[in-house]
Amino acid sequence: DSLTEGLDELARELDKDHVFHSWSAQSHASTLTIASGRGARVWDHAGREYLDFSSQLVNVNIGHQHPAVVQAIREQAELLTTIAPSTVNLARGEAAKRIVAHAPSGFHKVFFTNGGADANENAIRMARLHTGRDKILSTYRSYHGNTGAAVVATGDWRRVPNEFARAHVHFFGPYLYRSEFWASSPEEESERALRHLRRVIEAEGPSSIAAVLLETIPGTAGVLVPPPGYLAGVRELCDRHGIMLILDEVMCGFGRSGRWFAFDGYDVRPDLITFAKGVNSGYVPAGGVVISDPIAATFDDRVFPGGLTYSGHPLAMASIVATLDAMASEGIVDHAREIGAESIGPALEDLAERHAVIGEVRGEGVFWAVELVTDRKTREALPAAAMGRIKSALVGRGLLPFVQDNRIHVVPPCVVTAEEVADAMAIYDEVLGTALEGEG
Ligand code: PLP
Repeated sequence: DSLTEGLDELARELDKDHVFHSWSAQSHASTLTIASGRGARVWDHAGREYLDFSSQLVNVNIGHQHPAVVQAIREQAELLTTIAPSTVNLARGEAAKRIVAHAPSGFHKVFFTNGGADANENAIRMARLHTGRDKILSTYRSYHGNTGAAVVATGDWRRVPNEFARAHVHFFGPYLYRSEFWASSPEEESERALRHLRRVIEAEGPSSIAAVLLETIPGTAGVLVPPPGYLAGVRELCDRHGIMLILDEVMCGFGRSGRWFAFDGYDVRPDLITFAKGVNSGYVPAGGVVISDPIAATFDDRVFPGGLTYSGHPLAMASIVATLDAMASEGIVDHAREIGAESIGPALEDLAERHAVIGEVRGEGVFWAVELVTDRKTREALPAAAMGRIKSALVGRGLLPFVQDNRIHVVPPCVVTAEEVADAMAIYDEVLGTALEGEG
């Protein structure tokens, strides 16, 4: 009705007048208004419904407004909303215990942060202090966050205007569809990408390198599922030279890949694990570093020179405890794996058969990328203007998409149902049918 339509209007006016948005030219910021949500659906004030196949920034793994998590935040708010990080707090210990329970043996400690960027920031700091070395190697196709070392470790365009710090070196990771190594099979891509990394390490001087920082499955860069043997090979190179391996599980962790940690699917053991997003689906901002015993021991008698006013914030901790308990008791991670294998994957393959604009489909769990091209042979990326039209058409049909470069990332909450997947696929189908109009 007009009263609630008025709230959407008011929200847009206030936003336009007073809110400064991330990663945007301000006069081109989005006007999409969201007022409420439940599971894989969100609504504006007027009740217009959207299927959320973005999970916002690929973080709402448990779905919107899970009642047990909302209840836990409410109860914690009534007991104690905030407390200094130096105090002992039960919710913090319970949250850390649950996170460690999903890590490999040899991990017992968690340092809590406000989000993913500062998780990487502090993991980098720990690796440097533990090894006494300064260089950090990471891939061009990566995003690690928007703070000092995290944004310079990032490989994509966001690094360049922020690149003041030294001691960061980038290399190419595996990406068979657009191989940097002229590879024609996953095995060849893996082998050649490892050779390239070995050469970079040798050329940089192995004893100057503190850590290799990798997203287990690079997310924003295109859901680049690593080929067989790659991560194990990186581990081997790190071991040979005393280099720490930091796996960034901020986007791929806590159910997104259909596993608790994405690296559970590979023969690899990190030294530090960074997390955020799915650990509590962002109901309260939180992230952190899971620390292996030898690195934790470095700071037994030596001060760790880092901290945050809100490290282990009680509301965030209560939301982590409730999220991880609900994900375990409701089988949410298993559901993400099954819906990916049984519904999302096959449906996207079916779309790819019928739409020439789809160059490749890849992913697992609720973590998929659909690569759009003007020509399947040349693999030329669909231009930005066409991607913009696709995005608007999807939103116009009631689907919130995650669009990045020439790709649609199909990344619904882990709790998405088979019916919701079918509804979303019908919308993608309809929109992709016209995607190549006007393209050559
Ligand atoms: N690492 C990865 C892999 C991410 O995808 C992101 C955010 O998208 C970050 C780190 C940064 O997390 P935050 O935005 O919570 O700082």
